[in-house]
Amino acid sequence: MAGVDQEKTGLGNYFIANYPPFSFWKPSYLPDAVMALNSPPVPGTPLGLYLHIPFCRKRCKFCYFRVYTDKNAKDVEVYLNAIVKEVELLAQTPCIGGRKLDYIYFGGGTPSYLSATQLRGMIERLQTILPWDAAREVAFECEPGTLQQHKLQTLRELGVTRLSLGVENFKPEILQFNGRAHLEEEIHRAYGWARDLGFEQINIDLIAGMVGEDWPNWRDCVRKTIAMSPDSVTVYQMELPYNTVFSRELKVIGQDEPQLGIADWPTKRAWVDYAFEEFQNAGYEISSAYTVVKSKAKTQFVYRDALWSGADMFGTGVASFGHVNGVHIQNVDTWEQYIEKLDKNEIPLGRAFPTTPHHRLIREMILQLKTGHLRADYFQKKFGANILKEFADGYRKLESEGWLTVSEDGVDLTPAGLLQIDRHLTTFFDAEHLSNRYT
Ligand code: SF4
Repeated sequence: MAGVDQEKTGLGNYFIANYPPFSFWKPSYLPDAVMALNSPPVPGTPLGLYLHIPFCRKRCKFCYFRVYTDKNAKDVEVYLNAIVKEVELLAQTPCIGGRKLDYIYFGGGTPSYLSATQLRGMIERLQTILPWDAAREVAFECEPGTLQQHKLQTLRELGVTRLSLGVENFKPEILQFNGRAHLEEEIHRAYGWARDLGFEQINIDLIAGMVGEDWPNWRDCVRKTIAMSPDSVTVYQMELPYNTVFSRELKVIGQDEPQLGIADWPTKRAWVDYAFEEFQNAGYEISSAYTVVKSKAKTQFVYRDALWSGADMFGTGVASFGHVNGVHIQNVDTWEQYIEKLDKNEIPLGRAFPTTPHHRLIREMILQLKTGHLRADYFQKKFGANILKEFADGYRKLESEGWLTVSEDGVDLTPAGLLQIDRHLTTFFDAEHLSNRYT
């Protein structure tokens, strides 16, 4: 049982996105990144492209991503030229050149901040460098208030298959207090246009525990989301990472107005639990610790599944993360360095981490645990490893605490385990990766 302090939403990250943690990636490993890019790929490994579009209309108070709210049209043009140049340089490397893209992901930031003309210009240039004809998914993140019908029409024409709407909450006061730029009516308008245009898949993102959230409003958010009938819904639990507006402000606000703090973890888990139950009552299935889908058979999320099963992905744009040929790579993380390196025709590598097969086994195992199930035969076939033996101590510990069950086929999380899986994943980290998890 966690102590009271652990149950408060303290400063720091909860969500585990990768392994080994980012704080162990170093510029001194860049020669490994260069070697990975200059080596042929492992045959049969899918390849994805991630594009980081770092512009937002305003900074949400809980946001810790590399985003800019002060760039003008000229800056945007400079950035888009740089990102196309980056893809061009990467496409010339032995690791990437000549390979077909399996999936493409536009993330940010706010990709939908770009105008229809900017999007068309950038995407058409990208497609001449690396065709998308074999891609199973083109996913695109949107902020509802930046969408117009003609922009969505352009995205549909350019081949976007999965649209993800960053709704987060419906209540105007909560959206505003948390620094979101969009309004409730913009959510409904954008969703209606997207549905009419026939996108293959529309996802809605919600956040459980935005500042000001309470039970009546959360029930209302879930009810409104179900009424819209999206293909999938992703529910994140609000964190309080370092370097956000809230991490600086809330300590003060919290003392003066305690009702404006972030809900504790048990409350946020209860909200996600409630949402998952309501979505299941409405016919959705749970597909991960954060996601419900209308139909697992029809609603794939290629980007997530590829990432969680060790696919290659090159991350482009400022501060972007990728993984190729067993090496984690992150780009330089300032605008100036990013633009300058591409001006000089250099791939803007910032830091890297060369993984061992053992790291990759841990990485896939913990990421796939987020689906709620692990199949031992998958790991046996791919890594020649018996996870039930290799991680027996960790599974036994979590089983005794009620978070999972082990069978001869694999591991299944309990419903309670699924709701808090990220806090237990460090159980499987190598000892040297247990400190200083996120920087
Ligand atoms: S829209 Fe997303 S990326 Fe932009 S500031 Fe808000 S949370 Fe950050």
